[in-house]
Amino acid sequence: MRRGAEEEREPLRSGLRATSVPRPAVRSLAGTLVALLICSMFSLAACQTVPQPAGSSSESAAPTVSNQSARINSWFEDCKSSEQELIAFLHKMPKGADLHNHPSGAVDAEDVIRLASEQGLYYDRENRRFSAEVPEGPYWSPADFTDPTQTQINQAYSEVMNVLTMRTVDGEANRDGDGRIGHDHFFNYFTATAAVNIPKDMMLEKLIREAVSQRIGYLELMTTYTAPEDVQRVEELKEKVLAEAALEGEAWHLEINYIASLVRTLSLEEFESQLAWATERYYTPGLNIVGITILAPEDNPIALRDYDAQMDLINAAYEKSMTEHPENPLRFTLHAGELTLENAPYSVLSTRLSDTLDRGHAVRVDHGTAIGWDNKVYELLARMREENVGVTVCLTSNMGILDGDDFHSQFTLYHDYGVPVSLGTDDEGVERTNLTAEYAKAAQWFDLGYEDLKELARNGIRISLLSQEEKDIQLTMLEEDFASFEEYIVAQIP
Ligand SMILES: [Zn+2]
Repeated sequence: MRRGAEEEREPLRSGLRATSVPRPAVRSLAGTLVALLICSMFSLAACQTVPQPAGSSSESAAPTVSNQSARINSWFEDCKSSEQELIAFLHKMPKGADLHNHPSGAVDAEDVIRLASEQGLYYDRENRRFSAEVPEGPYWSPADFTDPTQTQINQAYSEVMNVLTMRTVDGEANRDGDGRIGHDHFFNYFTATAAVNIPKDMMLEKLIREAVSQRIGYLELMTTYTAPEDVQRVEELKEKVLAEAALEGEAWHLEINYIASLVRTLSLEEFESQLAWATERYYTPGLNIVGITILAPEDNPIALRDYDAQMDLINAAYEKSMTEHPENPLRFTLHAGELTLENAPYSVLSTRLSDTLDRGHAVRVDHGTAIGWDNKVYELLARMREENVGVTVCLTSNMGILDGDDFHSQFTLYHDYGVPVSLGTDDEGVERTNLTAEYAKAAQWFDLGYEDLKELARNGIRISLLSQEEKDIQLTMLEEDFASFEEYIVAQIP
C-alpha cells in the first residue's frame, strides 16, 4: 500500500484501456507456438544444447523432461537452505507479472537524497522531512549530503536513509529504532519526500530496468500519465532498454499498463472528482489505463468515516459504466482488508473484504490481509476461486507495516483454498525489496517448491487486467520462458 502522496501533489490523472498488446521484442506468438510444438515433439533437451555436469557419466545422454524437472526441483529444495543460493536460483527465473507496484514508492532512497540535495532542500531533523524553507529546529543542509569531506555526511546520510526506508523496522516487534510502529514509519515516507520533485520517468526507468533484469514480463503500475505522448515516451524507453539487454545476450520482453489511483483519505468531494477523472481517463485511448484502485491507509479516520459513501460512489460509477460501456465496464482492483486487530475494529475487519467484491466490484483484491476475519470467509474464498478474483500479496510490505510475518500472513489461506495469488512488491524502494526477494521469501516462509513458484508466476498473468486474448499470449510466452530458464538452470547444477 502507499500513501497516495504522488496523487496528492498533482491532480489525479488517468488513462485508458490497452487496446492491444504490442508484439514482444524478441519473439512472435507464432514463433512461440512453433517452438513449443517442436519442443514437445522431441524433448526440451533436444531443442537446446545443455552443458553436462562434470563427472556425471549417467547424464551423458540428453536428459528427458521429467528427469530434468526432477533435478531442478531437487536442487531448488537444496537452495532453500541458503538465502544467497536461493536468490541466485530465482534471480533469472521468469516471474510473470508484478501487479502491485507503486512507482512513487519504488525510487531508491539514495536517489531521493541526491535529488533533494540538487534541488536545494533542507532536511528537517525534528519533523523528519525535506523542506524548501530553512527549518526552525535542527536540520541538515543540501551540502551535507554531497560533500564527502564534511564529517557530518555519514551521519546525515545514515539518518535520512533510516527515515526513507524500512531498514530499521523490526518486523516482529513492528517498531522502528525510535519506537514508532512500522505503519507510521512507512507512511511518513510520503510526507518526508513531498517537497522533493521526483521525475516520473525516472521512477519508471528504474522499474523497467529491474523487470528486464529479473525476468518480469508484465507490469501493472499504479501511476498515470495525462497525455498519450508521455506513455509513448515510456514505451520508447522500454524498447531502448530491451534492445540494450538483447545486445548483451539477455533478450527479454515486457508489457506495461497503468492503474489510476483514488485517495481514500481526501474529502468526499475530492474523492468523487477523482473518480470522475479516473473514469474519463479509463476510456481515453492512448493512456493504457486498465483499472482503478483506492490508496492510502484504511484505518485513517477519514477513510473509516467515508468508507460507505466511497463504496456507494464506486458502485454508482460501475453501474453507469455498465449502461454506457457494457462491453467494457470499469474494472476495480482495490486495496482492501490491509488491516489487523491492532489498527482497526472487528466490525471493519469482519465485513471489509466481502463488501469490496459486492459494492466495490473488485475484480482483484490488493493485500486482503484480514481475510480470516471475514464473516463469510469460506463463501468468500469459494467465490474468489470460482470467479477468478485473485489477490496480490506483498510479503515484505506486510511484515514491515502490519507485522505480517509467516505466521500472520494471509498467503496460506488464499493459497490453500485455490484463490489465485500473485506476489507483488508494493513500494519496493521504501521496503528495500524486489520481486526476486518476494519469491525467495515465499519459498522460505511457506516451504514452496519450484513448481509452486511457477504457478505464482502464471497467476500474475491470469489475474492481470489484460484481455483474455492478451493473457493467452503472455501465458504462452511464459511457458517458453520457463523452458529456456530450465535448460539454463539445469546446466548450472554443481
Ligand atoms: Zn499498495
